[in-house]
Amino acid sequence: MPEKYEDPFARIASMIGGDEYLKVARSLLKSEDATDEEIASSTGLRINMVRKVLYDLFGKSLITGIRVKDERKGWFVYRWRTRRDEVEHFIENQKKKIMERLQQRLDYENASDFYHCGSAECNRVTFEDALEGMFKCPSCGGVLNLKKNERARKAYAKKIEQITRDMQQVF
Ligand SMILES: [Zn+2]
Repeated sequence: MPEKYEDPFARIASMIGGDEYLKVARSLLKSEDATDEEIASSTGLRINMVRKVLYDLFGKSLITGIRVKDERKGWFVYRWRTRRDEVEHFIENQKKKIMERLQQRLDYENASDFYHCGSAECNRVTFEDALEGMFKCPSCGGVLNLKKNERARKAYAKKIEQITRDMQQVF
């Protein structure tokens, strides 16, 4: 788990992939331009795990890799560096994605009518499905009635509010 005053780069890494990511992130913050092997030995993680984390962070534009020749070994290696300037941008994008998904759900709730038989064990169905089944519940065969989905609407609206608040606290 990240510490309370952990660098945002380490926090975000931990959020993406948990402890292994956190270890790699801390190592990158400690020594800039480290190679895969140097990170593996400083974190105690297996080299394959280190590479998996690095490529993922690289794919998300959170680190850069510079290809340099290792003079001792005579071959090319990558030296990795954090892109701490990208962290805020990344967080903003994630927030936007989550909010968009929730907003879509809310729009769906607002735009649709649902039908329900009244039994707690059965799911609600859309108007199209209700019509197709002659307004009989597909699970229990009971009569389907129009169900006000105010509750679901309110729940989603509340959820959006809560996530907005949570994200403001985390970052
Ligand atoms: Zn039913």
